[in-house]
Amino acid sequence: MTLTSPTAAPTSTATAATDTHCPYCSLQCGMRLAPAVDGAGIPVEVLERPDFPVNRGALCGKGRSAPVLLARDVRLTGPLLRDRPGAPLRSASWSEALDRVAAGLARTRAEHGADAVGVFGGGGLTNEKAYLLGKFARVVLGTANIDYNGRFCMSSAAAAHRRAFGLDRGLPFPLADIPHTGCLILVGGNPAETMPPAVRYFRELRENGGRLIVVDPRRTRTAELADLHLQPRPGGDLALALGLLHLVIADGMVDRAFVEQRTNGFEAARESAMAHWPDRVERITGVPAHQLREAARMFGHAATGMVLTARGPEQQSKGTDTVGAWINLCLATGNSGRPYSGYGCLTGQGNGQGGREHGQKADQLPGYRSIEDPAAREHVAAVWGVPAESIPGPGKSAYELLDDLGRPDGVRALLLAGSNPAVSAPNAGHVVDRLRSLDLLVVADLVLSETARLADVVLPVTQWAEEDGTTTNLEGRVILRRKALDPPDGVRSELWLLRELAARLGVPTGFPVEPEEAFAELGRASAGGDADYAGIGYRRIAAEDGVFWPCPTPDHPGTPRLFLDRFATPDGRARFAEVTHRPGGEEPDEAYPLYLTTGRVLAQYQSGAQTRRVAELNAAAPGPFVELHPRLAERLGIADGEPVAVVSRRGRAVAPARITDTIRADTVFMPFHWAGAGRANSLTNPALDPVSRMPEFKLCAVRVEPVQRKDVQEPVQGKEVTA
Ligand code: SF4
Repeated sequence: MTLTSPTAAPTSTATAATDTHCPYCSLQCGMRLAPAVDGAGIPVEVLERPDFPVNRGALCGKGRSAPVLLARDVRLTGPLLRDRPGAPLRSASWSEALDRVAAGLARTRAEHGADAVGVFGGGGLTNEKAYLLGKFARVVLGTANIDYNGRFCMSSAAAAHRRAFGLDRGLPFPLADIPHTGCLILVGGNPAETMPPAVRYFRELRENGGRLIVVDPRRTRTAELADLHLQPRPGGDLALALGLLHLVIADGMVDRAFVEQRTNGFEAARESAMAHWPDRVERITGVPAHQLREAARMFGHAATGMVLTARGPEQQSKGTDTVGAWINLCLATGNSGRPYSGYGCLTGQGNGQGGREHGQKADQLPGYRSIEDPAAREHVAAVWGVPAESIPGPGKSAYELLDDLGRPDGVRALLLAGSNPAVSAPNAGHVVDRLRSLDLLVVADLVLSETARLADVVLPVTQWAEEDGTTTNLEGRVILRRKALDPPDGVRSELWLLRELAARLGVPTGFPVEPEEAFAELGRASAGGDADYAGIGYRRIAAEDGVFWPCPTPDHPGTPRLFLDRFATPDGRARFAEVTHRPGGEEPDEAYPLYLTTGRVLAQYQSGAQTRRVAELNAAAPGPFVELHPRLAERLGIADGEPVAVVSRRGRAVAPARITDTIRADTVFMPFHWAGAGRANSLTNPALDPVSRMPEFKLCAVRVEPVQRKDVQEPVQGKEVTA
């Protein structure tokens, strides 16, 4: 039986307040939805929820304005389909749309084999949806080819985490521990813009006497808060971490007892670090040696220390090694597996953590199990009621899957949910070409995103306020979103459409529509795995403001802090990584003499498919721009606000220049939220990390040229039409 919120109103118009969470980033801020008094088509308004411990009532503009997407005139309200290639999308009934999808998937499978059918998920899907999407791919379609956009987000940190500690959870401690550490190094993250309510923890750290070091090629709003800002070239993070470890060793700041008692592999890490002396690191990174020494002293002498990474060091073709180098620094100084210490990753998407734990990743089964582990396959097969040998092996990673779309041996029919790769994938122009070459593209989304516009069938799905479901925030805290109102008549949840498609494809059972029932099955599938949710239920989450995994039984307290007794490796010891500096996949040269790095701005989110439809967010961040240092602008003869073209080996993007001395003179920056002429991902390099298969979003070689003003993309103001 589904647990209904005592305050939720199961009608199309909300009549009482409902405690829930923001639909956007990994902080998953608590919020309260109340009926809108005069909503002008927007049914609910957002109120603060001060009792939720993560954000304590604070919200950013994205969360406050999220109900705008509930209005009928900005969202999809019924299925759309295309009668033939090149024909316009037209309205269709659900039965016609689902029959078309099922027939297309079945035909592709019969003609080209099961692996010619692909599934592409998203890090914003709830745990229940991610779990059933993975089950649908393996049980109904029989395909190995399922992956998701989280591969573009935290996969390098995940790989490094598992290599070092035997387990991957974004943060091994609650955010509330941050103010109590002695020194924190934040590498390539800008929470002041991406998750402003989290900044309070960094401020409190400094108020308590702790030190904050920020590593970023740009002097961001977050870097402004720091005691020390290190500003390396894009791709310099690995050498920087090695240089800091060099100084920690050379200056006698290694915690010998910790290294001996709780780690393996220090000697190889030491040898590599000793080859990265300060002057060499200064040449590689551009960070002055004296700043490096100051950072090493601050971190090495602190009684406790943390390192947090975000997309900067992770979205590189050496991202796993880069994160490994920062973990090495933590291990050498004894800052891991102890209170108020450790390495953590600030995940990005709303369910970036849970989305990678329950089976929508090409190499994983629910519970963070390896799809190649025979015991894991047996366990999950028993829960699914299928033979273990029927579960396919690992499939292609996200970019490799997209790159192979429509090719003779690639995926020919794709079901895509909660993702917009036409804007968010690297080398996006190429990805759009591959999407166009498919025999069948099916997109489930709440708005007509750029990818949905390419689809043969578009399936409109419910949003956060219209359904129950769990997500797992960046701390590993499983939280519960509650339904506040019914969706419009023509809109269905992904759980419902997976059940309908499964039935049409010959699997009439095993796909629950009730989220709580799906979560209970997910718990059984995860039992005994790394990410064990078996002891977590909806009532418990609601009563406890979230439960930290692993939580194997209902009487287990959950695990806010990992590794305090032992690491999750077979011998309980953490493993140093053997890493050394290497250049990025593409370094500047004569033809492309500058680095491009990309990122987010405060008022937009990811591909912008949702936030670009919110007028107040568009007013704050109306369009793309190119950040250039004044010296670079002067050399190129570019004035502030003038249109410039940024050109890489893969494409060209045009946007107004924004001249600022907060960026390095050898680097330009573009936010990646926009489509069209200003699409930053037209430029980015899909060079992949060999371990995580993460593309190198964070650096590529470009040149910058002045262009005519008519080439600049006009900002989108206010609402976008849906069809
Ligand atoms: S910080 Fe993230 S979770 Fe919180 S309101 Fe903003 S977008 Fe939502």
